[in-house]
Amino acid sequence: MQGEQGDIEARLAWLEKQLEMLTAAVRELRAQLAPAAPNDVAPQTPQERQQVLGEGYANLARLYQEGYHICPMHFGSQRGGEECLLCAALLRR
Ligand SMILES: [Zn+2]
Repeated sequence: MQGEQGDIEARLAWLEKQLEMLTAAVRELRAQLAPAAPNDVAPQTPQERQQVLGEGYANLARLYQEGYHICPMHFGSQRGGEECLLCAALLRR
């Protein structure tokens, strides 16, 4: 059962990473919705932030192209070839 547990751990690590990227994406969307929030300052430098978001975006875009939802509502489930407004909103950043 060693291998099985390893699979689960790898999967959890992967999901954790997706969650981080989604959190970053949600933060970005929130910032777009409420651009005038002077107290909401990100702790990272703009360059670091840009890099993290860029990586996350590339991964999400790839997931979406592979036919999976990247929106928080249905994340990771198959789209069955259908467009999803929430996914599209995330990709349109
Ligand atoms: Zn979706």
